[in-house]
Amino acid sequence: MAEISKHMFESTCRDLHCSEILHPWDRSCWSSSIQTYKDSFIGSARFYAVIHLVQNAIRGKKVLEKNELIKAGEYYIRSTILGALISGTCVSLSCFLRFLIGRKINYYTYLMIPNMINGVFILLEPPSRRGLIINLFSNLVIEYWLRSLQRSGYISLGTSKQMLLFSLGSALLFYLMRLEGEKKNRTPLLWLFTPEKVRRKTDDTNNVCPHDGPCLQYIFKGSAKYFSAGLAFTFAKTILPKLRTPLKALSSIRGRHFSMALFFGSYIGIYRAVICFLCRKRGYDSALYALPAGYAAGLSFLFKPNLGFAIAALTGAFKIYSTTLYEKKILPEKLQLPLIMYCICQGILFHTRFMHPDVCPSYVFNLMKSVTNGRSDKIYKRLLEILKIASV
Ligand SMILES: [Zn+2]
Ligand SMILES: [Zn+2]
Repeated sequence: MAEISKHMFESTCRDLHCSEILHPWDRSCWSSSIQTYKDSFIGSARFYAVIHLVQNAIRGKKVLEKNELIKAGEYYIRSTILGALISGTCVSLSCFLRFLIGRKINYYTYLMIPNMINGVFILLEPPSRRGLIINLFSNLVIEYWLRSLQRSGYISLGTSKQMLLFSLGSALLFYLMRLEGEKKNRTPLLWLFTPEKVRRKTDDTNNVCPHDGPCLQYIFKGSAKYFSAGLAFTFAKTILPKLRTPLKALSSIRGRHFSMALFFGSYIGIYRAVICFLCRKRGYDSALYALPAGYAAGLSFLFKPNLGFAIAALTGAFKIYSTTLYEKKILPEKLQLPLIMYCICQGILFHTRFMHPDVCPSYVFNLMKSVTNGRSDKIYKRLLEILKIASV
């Protein structure tokens, strides 16, 4: 997959009609949009069905109550409309911008600016879910930046450096989470697990650890639980797409399929072991113990090195920290920083999918392909064809 430079794009596509590279399925901007929006709705409904099913499964039995079910349904519909609107209006806005600047297509008005504008549809998501999505998109942009810096030779990120990032991120994140433990409203965050609250010193118990029961049981129970979760996740990912041939899928299981389980299991195990050790040694619990515990837990990264995890740990810590800044009124409440960030991130990522696919995080490919019901791939293929013909 080749990179498409600004020069290359504009010398070839500047004067093209938008049907060439935006809606090759129909020449008219109006009638083509029926197809575009229809596919966007189908793609989004399918994509979010999987996401919401998994998210509700994690929440367990609670979802099955009547009120919760209605809420879950409403959230699903809101997500579907969001996906459909973003995917559909991307083409409409791009056509409109072309018309505005005198029937010319510019490198940035093609995908980046339309997707920055329609990023405001994120307001359709309820605030609690919105935060997590904004989190995810900023992680993806950082991943893209790091990858492109690495490609152009400014930095080199080997496994050991990524592990260092992950360890530092985990240490900070767990520390801030434990500090936040006392608060009523904790910052919503998607992370592997939530550490226990700090145990206050009281007279009625001589337990110094943040948990009940014996330490070893606590450590192994956590490890085993997360090991199984990791295993279930990997199996779902490997077997579900091959539902028609489950036997074949089962027989293709190799040692590497256990890496996610080992990563999860050891991560929680090391963290808990260090916390218990320090509590016992010092005779009291403190949020500070999360710093060495989180740092040491970072060792588990060796089982499953993944740049995305390393970045997510750091940005998670940053997110909790920014909540504190809003609470202390250092950041004004009116400032819609998260919304602005989301719009910018979405524009950059969807632009990157087409123009710098070799450094674009794979999640963006899947997201665009699913939500547009395959149309993004068709448009991209068409764009490549046009560039190829022009270069001959
Ligand atoms: Zn058009
Ligand atoms: Zn303990």
